[in-house]
Amino acid sequence: MSALAVGLALAVPAQAQDAAAIIGAEKARDAALQENIALDYVTQLTTRFGPRPAGSASETAAAEWAAGYMRDHGFRNVRIQEFPLVGWDRGEESAAIVGTNAQPLVVAALGHSPATPDGGLEAEVVRFSTLEAFQAVPDGSLAGKIAYVDAGQLVPMQTGAGYGPLTRIRGAGPALAGQKGAVAFIMRSVGSDEHRMPHTGTTRYVNGVVPVPAFALSAPDADQLSRLISYGEPVRMRLSSTARTYQTTSRNVIGDLPGRMRPEEIIVLGSHMDSWDLGTGAIDDGAGGAITLAAARAIADQGRTERTIRVILFGAEEVAQPVDTGNGGGAYLRSLSPEDLANHVFTGESDFGADRVYALQLPVGAQTGVFADAANRVLYPIGVLRSSEPELDGGVDIGPIVQAGVPVFGLKQDGLRYFDLHHTADDTLDKIDPEQLSQNVAAWAGLVSLVANSDVDFRAMVPATPTP
Ligand code: ZN
Ligand code: ZN
Repeated sequence: MSALAVGLALAVPAQAQDAAAIIGAEKARDAALQENIALDYVTQLTTRFGPRPAGSASETAAAEWAAGYMRDHGFRNVRIQEFPLVGWDRGEESAAIVGTNAQPLVVAALGHSPATPDGGLEAEVVRFSTLEAFQAVPDGSLAGKIAYVDAGQLVPMQTGAGYGPLTRIRGAGPALAGQKGAVAFIMRSVGSDEHRMPHTGTTRYVNGVVPVPAFALSAPDADQLSRLISYGEPVRMRLSSTARTYQTTSRNVIGDLPGRMRPEEIIVLGSHMDSWDLGTGAIDDGAGGAITLAAARAIADQGRTERTIRVILFGAEEVAQPVDTGNGGGAYLRSLSPEDLANHVFTGESDFGADRVYALQLPVGAQTGVFADAANRVLYPIGVLRSSEPELDGGVDIGPIVQAGVPVFGLKQDGLRYFDLHHTADDTLDKIDPEQLSQNVAAWAGLVSLVANSDVDFRAMVPATPTP
């Protein structure tokens, strides 16, 4: 028997994909290309509620509205799962170079940054071109200074790979600044655009506190400040922020399209409801809710599935907390019994805008075989290629259930322009391209339909850990 034949023999029946399931998935895919729920949902969400900061009245109202939207579109057992949260309110902020070169700069405070003292703070700026150079200076050596890290622009890439290294600066910078004695932390925005729009984003807590006020400069302002510093004269800045934290709650919105044969087996499609406060959260992440809701609906329109499809609009994805509880994803995991968790058969998250999907990453061990072939057959015609890489992560919201063993997939989206807009005032509805959005929904509908109408068991495909 050839290796291939052995693989096929072992794969049956666990990976069996009957022709009906493939035809059903193709129908769901094609229906999704024609549907209009995705654009309707994200249009209404962003127009009715605007920005939806985690734990805000706007996030709450949007969650209640979305629960009604799910019910109106045939979802069952629609419920809201509330959890405690430390919210953050930006207040007013400003930045300026002072002295002979006095001029205003455009900044945005980073999420959960504390306020400056009343009336602002003023200090000399010390620039670092890498996080490592900043880390290397002795503790206490920046006493009374503003620490500035400008590690250059994010390089736009289809995969979005440029983002991770720069978010290390955003996460670690404020705490490091405190350790070095600085009175504030500023950085070049984590973004790929050249507009005068700062990109906000969360920082990290250290021992429960974000140590010093922290701000992102827009790209042209970072260029300007770095040039001025390169002329060799000391540069002083004034920074002001009235940001505050407050005790609140956030919530997950959960709705099901129950399966007809094995309703206890659940496929979770995730995204997040909250957004940053600067834009209206269209690409991050109104689009994710739109894609997952519309895909689930397009599948159910072809007839009830064998397994249950669950759509979750998670609360509070964007913000770090003094004590990490996993936010919405953590609250969801804690609500599951061990048996429920074991019945979560597949999960994926849409949180990378609304542009086209170009690749499918399946759970570990599923890269080849009968299921991968069937998925390829359904997705190839809309330009989605099967990747030889497994999906390992999924995203922040489904992270807790993935860590707990739920098989995860990734439908990889084109990220070339995502970080031009991400976390800025420019994240608005007009940036969504309806044609790319439809292709995206079709990819989700095709893949999820295939799994919802089969007994494919991804847990069984994970290779046994090699014994020494
Ligand atoms: Zn997001
Ligand atoms: Zn975000």
